Amino acid sequence: MKHRYNQYSSYIKNKYGQRVQKIPVDAGFTCPNRDGTLSVGGCIYCNNSSFSRRLLSPLTLSEQIKIGIEVAKKKYKVDKFFIYFQSFTNTYACLDYLKEIYQTALAFEGVVGLCIGTRPDCIDKEKLDFLEDLTEKFDITIEYGLESVYDLTLSKINRGHNFQAFENAINLTLNRNIQICTHIILGFPWESSRQWIETAKILSKYPIDFLKVHNLHVVRETKLFEIFQESPFKTLGAEEYLEIIIEFLENLNPQIIIQRLLSDTPIDLLISPRWEIKNSTFLNNLLIEMSKRNTYQGRLYENIPS
Ligand code: SF4
Repeated sequence: MKHRYNQYSSYIKNKYGQRVQKIPVDAGFTCPNRDGTLSVGGCIYCNNSSFSRRLLSPLTLSEQIKIGIEVAKKKYKVDKFFIYFQSFTNTYACLDYLKEIYQTALAFEGVVGLCIGTRPDCIDKEKLDFLEDLTEKFDITIEYGLESVYDLTLSKINRGHNFQAFENAINLTLNRNIQICTHIILGFPWESSRQWIETAKILSKYPIDFLKVHNLHVVRETKLFEIFQESPFKTLGAEEYLEIIIEFLENLNPQIIIQRLLSDTPIDLLISPRWEIKNSTFLNNLLIEMSKRNTYQGRLYENIPS
């Protein structure tokens, strides 16, 4: 039942023989979609309060890593770590600064790699050359936020880039031994379930190593919340999302490793949907249902050259 889809935890266990804990850090970046370069409002689902709360955090990068590793060692009894540059756009700075912070992170004992979250329009050849050099000793994953494969949606959510920007970033990153992860969101109210299944087929054509799928959450203090208050729209219930995810996985390239299938928003910030089940129960139900149907990731995948 464990292998109904290509799970990241199994991949890591096979590769390292153990769990490798991600240590999320905030290295003080901002985002061109917030600092006025592209816009000041940001993506409509992006939470403003986490942005301003962050500015109150007094911890240096090294302090965050040190504390994160200590906590992970106690909680999970692990001794290998990825430092996860998660907050905002973690390649949005000059190369010298990036070198300094990435090397600071890699110098900690037990750190075996970096996961770097960014936008597809915030990468260039020089930065990738540097990351490629790091792959000689470390696992380097770059996470390109895409959120939708549809330009109409990218415009509606104020991403400030189109699908072509994603394709350009993938082409720049290819064949460098850097692993590629992407994020998408399923559930925008103007998209249809057919479009979400089509999303799986489109993503399957790209050399993506890892995928994070998020179900749309309406979160407090976002533009999306304002829209929702003015004119409430339907968000996906657990049963409906389960059906969508099964079909999504069936159509997805079986080689793509799944890092996430659900959003995880603090309950005090989450407006909708409010499920009655926990994410862990949902994931368990998903495996049970896929097993009952004797289906699996890639069952309907057709390898059609683009
Ligand atoms: S979601 Fe990411 S790209 Fe969009 S505004 Fe927030 S930090 Fe910037």
